[in-house]
Amino acid sequence: MKIHEYQAKELLRAYGAPVPQGEVAVTAEQAAAAAEKYGRCVLKAQVHSGGRGKAGGVKLADNADAARAFAGKMLGMRLITPQTGPEGRLVRKLLITPAVEVKKEFYLSVTGDSANAALVIIASADGGTEIEETARTHPERIARISVSAVEGFKRYEGLQAAGALGLTGENEKELISLLESMTRLYLEKDCSLVEINPLALTGEGHLLCLDAKVSFDDNALFRHPEIKELRDIEEEDPREYRASQYDLNYVSLGGSIGCLVNGAGLAMATMDIIRHFGGEPANFLDVGGSASKEKVQAAFELLLSDENVRAIFVNIFGGIMKCDVIAEGVTAAAREMGIAIPLIVRLEGTNVELGRQILAASSLKIITAENMADGARKAVEAAARTGGGEQ
Ligand code: GDP
Ligand code: MN
Repeated sequence: MKIHEYQAKELLRAYGAPVPQGEVAVTAEQAAAAAEKYGRCVLKAQVHSGGRGKAGGVKLADNADAARAFAGKMLGMRLITPQTGPEGRLVRKLLITPAVEVKKEFYLSVTGDSANAALVIIASADGGTEIEETARTHPERIARISVSAVEGFKRYEGLQAAGALGLTGENEKELISLLESMTRLYLEKDCSLVEINPLALTGEGHLLCLDAKVSFDDNALFRHPEIKELRDIEEEDPREYRASQYDLNYVSLGGSIGCLVNGAGLAMATMDIIRHFGGEPANFLDVGGSASKEKVQAAFELLLSDENVRAIFVNIFGGIMKCDVIAEGVTAAAREMGIAIPLIVRLEGTNVELGRQILAASSLKIITAENMADGARKAVEAAARTGGGEQ
């Protein structure tokens, strides 16, 4: 789960990190009122995407009038960055924060390092909006310092980071304290990323987190109701949000074949075999091992509501999941929403005969498949016939 910059900064502040003041504005008047307090200030579009600076989502205003004018333009615009896709993101909120004199910009983050079962601090003296470019052209300018996930952050790891950033004296102490906050936040709240870019060295000679990005491990959210509340569903893919309400593992993809599968492994294999036959899956969808009829129905409705879907491939190997439950969910959804596209079904395993009877007794026009390959081939052919072929 992602959160907004202003929320990330509040969390970091609570963990003792040096974060500038700020106020959220949803109207130009609110932006002007905040600017009145701060004087020279920065207006920042609050969308779940980085790269805002280069895309016009970060503006420096000299006074309240300028802030009002910028806010009028920014609120309601669609911000297009390399991370948003061509449709961009609607700007609904701005963060107004005092403009700070910046002497130098660093990059600093904490994330997981699964290969080493550890955390890793990533630090670079070349921070700011060009960090991706630096990572590509000068990877040696980016330091990686491993931190034990069990023992947590150690002071000498902070000293190493300070060395990599060329920070000494008071700034070295500030960096160690900041890293202590970042790693503690990461571990206590089950984060997947805590990133500060840029970490600024201000004109007054102190470290200050000018930007912040914090993301969380969805599988651990049940432990953090207060974090769950920070969710902004307007920023999420509506289908993925709906899927999460039903506890479905669903990821939207760009293709034309909707897939309803049980088990993550089978779902992956299904996507592979669709590609093998020249098609493109519209989604990854694992209904899980013990889905109810309602859950299957919700899953099938998700597929039907995606206008890119030109054919649906139901690929079920019933183990704990029973084929008749799948059949009931699918037929209930099809009855309610109607289905105008080809439906290819491969059922195998527990209660398969009952499942087939339920499907046969429905008036649904179903293309049955002998096995997985047969089903994938038929789905690709059907999608091509209905206009969702090669892309
Ligand atoms: P991003 O492009 O989405 O990562 O947004 P950032 O918050 O990182 O802002 C982009 C750039 O704007 C930063 O790298 C800074 O150079 C600049 N910036 C942001 N806030 C301030 C500020 O308070 N003072 C100054 N001088 N520059 C800022
Ligand atoms: Mn940034």
